[in-house]
Amino acid sequence: MSRFRERFARFMVGRYGADKLSQCLIGISLVLVFAGLFARNPWVDILAFIFMALCYFRMFSKNIGKRFEENQKFERLFFRITEVFRKWRFKIQQMRQYHIYKCPSCSQKIRIPRGKGKVSIHCPKCGADFIKKS
Ligand SMILES: [Zn+2]
Repeated sequence: MSRFRERFARFMVGRYGADKLSQCLIGISLVLVFAGLFARNPWVDILAFIFMALCYFRMFSKNIGKRFEENQKFERLFFRITEVFRKWRFKIQQMRQYHIYKCPSCSQKIRIPRGKGKVSIHCPKCGADFIKKS
């Protein structure tokens, strides 16, 4: 077993190896393999194979600069997508803890903690007072 590992290590010298993009490709491929068990459509299996092949191609590639660049692009995109979800989660958390009211005279948004009964709200922008249930 250690002989095999040694040979594999030698094989991987100067090659790019795994990164986040490869992990994602493998993940997609596995999901597709699983989906292929139920979907009676050969394209699902073909797509799974393509993702798997792409992953191995990238891992064994010797063009390290290019693969690194691809991964950078992927990580940026990944961050942007997860950022949307993070913002959503934050909004939902805020909605659970606070009520957002608009000032009736200047429509400034005002955040009021929930569960305090009827409260008098003083607008910090225009100074108007109004009563709302929190
Ligand atoms: Zn106001």
